[in-house]
Amino acid sequence: MSEDNYRETAARRKRVQTLKKLILLSLFTVILIPFILCVILFVKVHSLNETLDRLSLQLEELAQAGAVQQRQLEELLSQEMASAGGEPAVNEAAKEDVKAAEIITFSQEETDTAAKHKVYLTFDDGPSKYTEDILNILDRYDVKATFFVVGKEDERSREALSMIVDGGHTLGMHSYSHKYTEIYDSEENFAEDFVKIQSLIYETTGIKSSIYRFPGGSSNTISEIPMQEFAEYLDSQQVRFFDWNVSSGDGGSKLLSVDTLVDNCLEGITQRETSIILLHDSAEKRTTVEALPMIIENILALEDTVILPITEDTEPVQHIQIIMDE
Ligand code: ZN
Repeated sequence: MSEDNYRETAARRKRVQTLKKLILLSLFTVILIPFILCVILFVKVHSLNETLDRLSLQLEELAQAGAVQQRQLEELLSQEMASAGGEPAVNEAAKEDVKAAEIITFSQEETDTAAKHKVYLTFDDGPSKYTEDILNILDRYDVKATFFVVGKEDERSREALSMIVDGGHTLGMHSYSHKYTEIYDSEENFAEDFVKIQSLIYETTGIKSSIYRFPGGSSNTISEIPMQEFAEYLDSQQVRFFDWNVSSGDGGSKLLSVDTLVDNCLEGITQRETSIILLHDSAEKRTTVEALPMIIENILALEDTVILPITEDTEPVQHIQIIMDE
């Protein structure tokens, strides 16, 4: 009888042990599986973010290349017009293309200098580790330029902002975050970002900047909201935006050679009254700094041509037209 009892106790103990194991195993599963899923999701989100950043960059390159092509088309058309003695003997289809692209160049009274060709060197995305080098080169040739900066708050970047102003150059805004998906998501986001970069510049230099360059240019196709709305917001802040009509090509992911950069920057200057050249002040753009002395020397060697900083009187180059309500 006692042996039966003993067996029964042993069997019960075994059942309890199995039950315990089962409970532990299920607990383990309940905790571990979500944990593994979390880790997998985290890795996925991270790689998606990287892809998104890469795509944003490619979009910027495409937008820049597109704007340059549109500009060249416009020039070809005006040359054709001129050769036809001012008669509008222009290919109608091509004319429509230009209209569709809504490219305009405001003409405004010339107030800068008497020179026939005015060239504006503009540097986007700074400050960077190269800002000081760029400033030194500009100084060497006694040339003033325009810097469209983004929101960098560290000590060195703030110093760079002051150096730009002290050197007599123009400080423009290029958004605080430079994140397309954020700033172009809504007008509120855009306004918030705008206030941040304007304040940073004001607190650092005492200058209230009144010129802006849209990341990707005003003709970028990233925003689902019409770019005109952001342009109207800038207008309501008494801020003028400037695109470009000459691209150095240094905005792409491939590092261009010095010769290519120089050639790109000289493109069409002698046929235009106003040339606004897009360059980048960025840690990845070493060859831009190397090419800069040659770019300046070549431009200054052109007849009746000056290099100027953008001011409120500068004739703007804009890829889109702002439609203002009366
Ligand atoms: Zn940029």
